[in-house]
Amino acid sequence: MSRDPTSFLGDEYSALVQSDLDWKIRTLQGPSTPWCHIDGKKVLMLCSNNYLGLTNHPALKKAAVDAVTTHGAGSGSVRAIAGNMDLHIQLEERLAHFKRAEASLVYQTGYAVNSGLIPQLVGEQDLVVSDELNHGSIIDGVRLSRAERAVYKHADTADLARVLDEAEKHSPQYRRILVITDGVFSMDGDIAPLDEIAKVSGEHGALVYVDDAHGEGVLGEGGRGIVSHFHLDRRQVQIEMGTFSKAFGVVGGHVSGSRDLTNFAYNKSRTWLLSGSHPPAVAAACIAAIDVLENEPERVQTLWRHTRHFKKSMSDLGFDIGKSESPITPIMVGEAEVAKKLSARLFEEGVFALPIVFPMVAKGKARIRTIMNAALTPEDLDFAIGAFGKIGKELAIVAQH
Ligand SMILES: *Cc1c(COP(=O)(O)O)cnc(C)c1O
Repeated sequence: MSRDPTSFLGDEYSALVQSDLDWKIRTLQGPSTPWCHIDGKKVLMLCSNNYLGLTNHPALKKAAVDAVTTHGAGSGSVRAIAGNMDLHIQLEERLAHFKRAEASLVYQTGYAVNSGLIPQLVGEQDLVVSDELNHGSIIDGVRLSRAERAVYKHADTADLARVLDEAEKHSPQYRRILVITDGVFSMDGDIAPLDEIAKVSGEHGALVYVDDAHGEGVLGEGGRGIVSHFHLDRRQVQIEMGTFSKAFGVVGGHVSGSRDLTNFAYNKSRTWLLSGSHPPAVAAACIAAIDVLENEPERVQTLWRHTRHFKKSMSDLGFDIGKSESPITPIMVGEAEVAKKLSARLFEEGVFALPIVFPMVAKGKARIRTIMNAALTPEDLDFAIGAFGKIGKELAIVAQH
């Protein structure tokens, strides 16, 4: 008798459970709003990517419902065959206008952009140079390419220059060099020095690809993202990638830049060509999200006002809030057990904020990652800060007085 060939499934899962490394996933019973119902309890949401409160915005919901009425529930195909709807085109035109790019191309997700486009931009005779803390979807895209890889120290442009200097001496010469970085780093909330990265890369003739998943809707003029934040243009940062699943409150990914870039991208990206297009409701809700960003820029200002208040209050209470420069505020506690205990107690007190522990971050760097939301009221914020203060003292993370 041979062994059951599926036994590894249960074995590996049990091993994760035993080492407390399995995902314990909570369930939202209703919309993602500042106060929401999770696992039967009403809690204040402090860890969604819903920066601007758009997930439940009436204009987005109405656009989605209307699109179901006019265009149906599904698109019927991949874009390239029979699933390219007028709504998809409208979304791309609106987004390109918003991003001040020549063109935008929408993918099913941000993950589909990084994993589908990067391996087409660089191949066998090329070099891809990555920040050591880049998002997993970038790492997967790089792995799928046949290019040589180099990593530079996190946000360290001197180290990037060293890598590019070395690349120049490479024989035979690389055909292309692509430098890739997250815009805002999702675990620490720090912002890539994109101006310096673009300068160093330009001096070495390298292309720059920025993943602006946590910058769009947050940084730059009216939430136009990191390229706007640093007043850069498309000659300096040629490839700008983003997502509709974070501040935009829906789902989807995009790449923005020149028309040549989007023409290249849709003809080559296997994720785009081989996977069905967004349901009309998704495209319509994303268009409505752009409307909101253009017409209600005060949401971005509220997001930053809340962020400053929260960071200052948490720091005054004695919490270590890391080196974030964005609405992502990590509450650094060190040991994984402390982070888990803090998160569990916060949940009991009515605040939902997830612990981030090894292997998502290095050992000894466990934290609670909070993400600010413009839809919170000042009272909500004070409630959250009060809960952190109370439990921080209880667990001796901050001083008692
Ligand atoms: C969330 C995220 C993605 C993936 O975006 P999706 O649209 O959710 O697939 C890619 N890059 C970064 C940096 C992210 O934070």
